[in-house]
Amino acid sequence: MMKRRIALLGSTGSIGTQALEVIATHPDDFSVELLTANSNASLLIKQAIRFNAATVVIGRKELFNEVNNALLPHHIKVFAGEESVLQCLAMESIDLVLAAMVGFAGLKPVIEALKNKKPVAIANKEALVVAGDLITRIAAENKTAILPVDSEHSAVFQCIQGELLNPIRKVILTASGGPFRGKDKKFLEGVTPHQALQHPNWSMGAKITIDSATLMNKGLELIEAKWLFGLKPEQIEVIVHPQSIIHSMVEFEDGSMKAQMGLPDMKLPIQYALAYPKRLSPGFTNFNFALNKNLTFEYPDEETFRCLAIARQVMIKAGNAPCAMNAANEIAVAGFLNNEIRFNDIPTLVQLCLDKIEFKTGCTFEEYQQTDEQARHITREIISHKTITSPV
Ligand code: NAD
Ligand code: MG
Repeated sequence: MMKRRIALLGSTGSIGTQALEVIATHPDDFSVELLTANSNASLLIKQAIRFNAATVVIGRKELFNEVNNALLPHHIKVFAGEESVLQCLAMESIDLVLAAMVGFAGLKPVIEALKNKKPVAIANKEALVVAGDLITRIAAENKTAILPVDSEHSAVFQCIQGELLNPIRKVILTASGGPFRGKDKKFLEGVTPHQALQHPNWSMGAKITIDSATLMNKGLELIEAKWLFGLKPEQIEVIVHPQSIIHSMVEFEDGSMKAQMGLPDMKLPIQYALAYPKRLSPGFTNFNFALNKNLTFEYPDEETFRCLAIARQVMIKAGNAPCAMNAANEIAVAGFLNNEIRFNDIPTLVQLCLDKIEFKTGCTFEEYQQTDEQARHITREIISHKTITSPV
């Protein structure tokens, strides 16, 4: 079999490094064509040498010389800046793109990859939240696949294999509940970034870890599921499952429900997307019932974790509302991590921003970009004027 040649966007992050572990376990199945990262030059250099990448792009242009000097003796081509990422995505030699950047920054490269008819394994959920309509339309126009990497969406995707003629009645996304499951609003008032970064089950990048603590992550995933599987908002439910063994479920017309299970390890969904439709041997530990006897479920507390309720409303409203919500959330999460705002200010800021943004439907890429910039500006203004009043 020919090796699948991978372009890994965001290779230095949590998903990026785990994807490289998967690739290292299966050297006969994959090779690395392109690696990109924003600012971690030293890790990018190590990865490029270790995996003999053909080309790398460092996002921050001031780091170009450092990366180029290190990789020149290895005959690895080096470029810098966002435009270079977009240009490299046209490379004939790329078979599949793994989008593992974080935030709105991932949107343009995802669109560019699809326009170049490259299948995209998508971890970057924010791109789908912001512009799921554009992305799915461009994928369809170019007859190009989008493969989910997010564990819940990978679970749904695995459950619908072989069900081509059977419509989905309902998707049930599971949520771990995060580090503050069961806590009340009063408790959340005082939580620190350090506490919020302690996820019980998953080790992930800082932004998604905070999103998991506020349940905004599950809110983003509702919208991600809507676009990936063409669902109506009322077809998507969330259930808290603290053990994170069932990664999500699909209910069909006859009421039969399929679930996909495994230990909480992103290498499984990453590997499934990279090798699809083939299943490869695992380089990771598998689930064992003897060690995990209790699987429990409860409904999410959307009054305490308001981000989930906000995201559900935003999913129903659609248009540029998810784009504005995502931007406000990115700014709010960064503000919380910088100790500028409190944990409970995150949903308040997102709601305040949504109330101020001009609502539009049928947006072009440029209009989404405009909404993103406006929402970031509005949210920063509110933070800098300290006009947030979180209801306790
Ligand atoms: P991370 O912060 O660990 O890594 C982000 C990567 O993106 C880094 O390589 C960084 O260099 C790159 N990057 C950041 N800003 C960039 C910019 N402006 N331009 C170009 N590149 C940039 O994040 P992560 O936890 O790996 O998450 C990546 C994406 O995958 C997110 O959208 C997240 O929601 C999603 N996801 C992550 C996990 C997980 O377990 N980590 C699970 C499901 C989904
Ligand atoms: Mg997930």
